[in-house]
Amino acid sequence: MNLNALEFPRTLVRPELLHQECWLNGQWQGGDPDKRLPVINPATGAILAHVPNMGYSVTSQAIANAQSALAAWRARTGKQRSVILKRWAQLMHENADDLSNILTAEQGKPLNEASSEIAYAASFLDWFAEEAKRIDGDILQSPVSGQRLLVLRQPIGVCAAITPWNFPAAMITRKVGPALAAGCVIIVKPAEHTPLTALALAHLAYEAGVPGDVFQVVTGEPEEIGNALCESDIVRKLSFTGSTDVGRMLMAKCAPTVKKLSLELGGNAPFIVFDDADLDEAMDALMLAKFRNSGQTCICANRVFVQSGIYSALADKLIERTRALKIGDGSAEGIQQGPLIDGRAIRKIQALLEDAVSHGARIALGGHVHENGGTFFEPTIIQDLSKDMRISSEEIFGPVAALYRFDTEADVLELANASKCGLAAYLFTRDHARIWRMSEALEYGMVGVNTAAISNEVGPFGGIKHSGLGREGSKYGIDEYLETKYICMKV
Ligand code: NAP
Repeated sequence: MNLNALEFPRTLVRPELLHQECWLNGQWQGGDPDKRLPVINPATGAILAHVPNMGYSVTSQAIANAQSALAAWRARTGKQRSVILKRWAQLMHENADDLSNILTAEQGKPLNEASSEIAYAASFLDWFAEEAKRIDGDILQSPVSGQRLLVLRQPIGVCAAITPWNFPAAMITRKVGPALAAGCVIIVKPAEHTPLTALALAHLAYEAGVPGDVFQVVTGEPEEIGNALCESDIVRKLSFTGSTDVGRMLMAKCAPTVKKLSLELGGNAPFIVFDDADLDEAMDALMLAKFRNSGQTCICANRVFVQSGIYSALADKLIERTRALKIGDGSAEGIQQGPLIDGRAIRKIQALLEDAVSHGARIALGGHVHENGGTFFEPTIIQDLSKDMRISSEEIFGPVAALYRFDTEADVLELANASKCGLAAYLFTRDHARIWRMSEALEYGMVGVNTAAISNEVGPFGGIKHSGLGREGSKYGIDEYLETKYICMKV
């Protein structure tokens, strides 16, 4: 079926990138026609497409396909795998407009953010294409004579990835890139809200030369698919990005098969601005860290701590700039904030705001469903917060800037670290000694100093505590898909 004829907001150059079937074993498979899942445009509520509602048995079949594919893929040289990954990245760039349109239609973020995500997503393929050629072993000095000690780094085997809706392209390439580079094969279950981007990526991967059983995409019932992946002894690695609750549950389900895990989970980022910060620089960063993707990123500024001396100046500027944000359908020109993903996201924000207000907080701007209705929410600023309110400990995941006033470095460090999560933290100050002290003391996997633009393919992305395990991207990311084998050789 030509999906352009459906409710797609923009015509695609290559409508064949839109698929309503799963990509399994090199074939597009539709599954039971009576059990299909709608994909909804969050900006309009229109149904964009339907995808299969696959479950346990189809996932088990995909695992078997992957197992059969493994030997041939891992036997290719790193250089051969690299060439294919590079070609896939190139195809992503060539089809960036179509991919961005698909992404915005199903996810809601403004088109300029979608095209940045496509470039970011392709950067992982390029990066790991290079890493594929540099998976080297080691020769160690033996403590006894007559032995040689060798270390091999080998692909872990059949892998699985479960990904979220907030970055429908990048969260896939950040896992599939290193997996394929390492010589692994992988099955991806994308989020129910955003399967179309994943399927378009599979289309381009195949065009680039990735065999159809080396990277498969299965859509459908999360629990059944998750159970099949977790329970299988063939699947040796699960990489999950999503909420801490689901991550914790998957971790438990993977325990019986002792699978290697990467978990990129929720955050509760402190965004700390000291009196001596460059206020304009901090403001630019705050607008990005708070309102990008309507506040639906794991590294979003969740708690904005501002030192007393500049608190009022920052709050005033924030209100002014937030009021000027242009809200609307992300596929229209000039939009800076799209809708939230669904009604559940709206209800969560409303509940957090109600709880905070009932405990004495004050809404300085916004606070309601936007006049556009649906899942649009007004960019909101809330003040007079205290640490016992729900908003201080839960991930907001929406366009709500929560402002806290602090006096001393020691106070803010204690507040910032009083979170079970430890993904990203931000720090704004001109004092170099303080930069070192704070960066070292913040219990977070990533610290942005005088910047919020921390995500790229080169830096190791990941968290500590309840924010997860492992690192993605960077020279460390490939290790998540490799096993270390030691050979002790008598000579
Ligand atoms: P989610 O509800 O945990 O869903 C993530 C994925 O898990 C989706 O594919 C979902 O499928 C699947 N899933 C849900 N229940 C499952 C189950 N019982 N068994 C197996 N799979 C299951 O999270 P989300 O709402 O999509 O994403 C937002 C969360 O992701 C936030 O907490 C955010 O901080 C986090 N995140 C973290 C990072 C990072 O790098 N640390 C990056 C991005 C997002 P369905 O969609 O089909 O339900």
